[in-house]
Amino acid sequence: MSGRVYLIGAGPGAPDLLTLRAVGILRRADVVFHDALVHTETLALAAGAEKIPVGKRSGRRSTAQKFINKRLIDAARRHAVVVRLKGGDPMLFGRAQEEIDALRRAGVDFEIVPGVTAASAAAAELGVSLTRRGLSRHVVFVTPRAAEGERGNDWATSVLAADTAVLYMGAGLADAISTELIGRGKPADTPIALVENASLPGRRVLFGTLTELPALAQATKGGPTLVLFGEVLRSALELQHRPASAEDIEDLLKRA
Ligand code: SAH
Repeated sequence: MSGRVYLIGAGPGAPDLLTLRAVGILRRADVVFHDALVHTETLALAAGAEKIPVGKRSGRRSTAQKFINKRLIDAARRHAVVVRLKGGDPMLFGRAQEEIDALRRAGVDFEIVPGVTAASAAAAELGVSLTRRGLSRHVVFVTPRAAEGERGNDWATSVLAADTAVLYMGAGLADAISTELIGRGKPADTPIALVENASLPGRRVLFGTLTELPALAQATKGGPTLVLFGEVLRSALELQHRPASAEDIEDLLKRA
């Protein structure tokens, strides 16, 4: 038996942001290897499948990538429809290439189903277009995170050069990020936004300036968060300067 492995984008969280193609394949799936952030309703679509969590937040340490690759290959030898379900779009910050290369080497048939990436969901939450005539024609998706042993990339140069920057997996490094960017000449009053749990019921949007990044990051609640930078956010930021809501005050009291 040689089945096919589908690398499917599960989108940013909300199950109804899946593509119809993803839903069709999930319904036929024999086995689903999924990231920890995938919504239970999304997994439930794969009614007849064995579900195997392999993501970083699944409680244990990240299942080693080589081991995941091997399990996908083994599963394709036993099942017709093997799904690897990844958050957002599988081709962005999802280590998809390692899986694709391993499948190719093993001669396993595969197909990729794109998903809505977190940056798109965040822009939707913000009501702010990442591009804008006359203001932003250069958008970067970047992460400051490097895997152990990996050469660090120069993420800051990309953020400095871009009109709009979307930072994945960076909220936990807020102090270092704002220090580095301001130190390298990014204006301290650059508008920023943090979007936590985009598309999910626990969604949260925080606006501020680059100087305020560490404080805003402190105010998130541990959900997946993107940090966005750029002038496209300025008018939303200015609108946001309003009296604190009851929820904000309750939050501040809890922290005191
Ligand atoms: N392949 C995924 C990204 C994986 S990296 C995609 O295309 O979206 C994981 C990072 O994505 C998180 O650290 C966070 O920065 C971001 N992220 C994922 N889901 C998110 C969500 N619902 N809201 C905000 N950020 C999210």
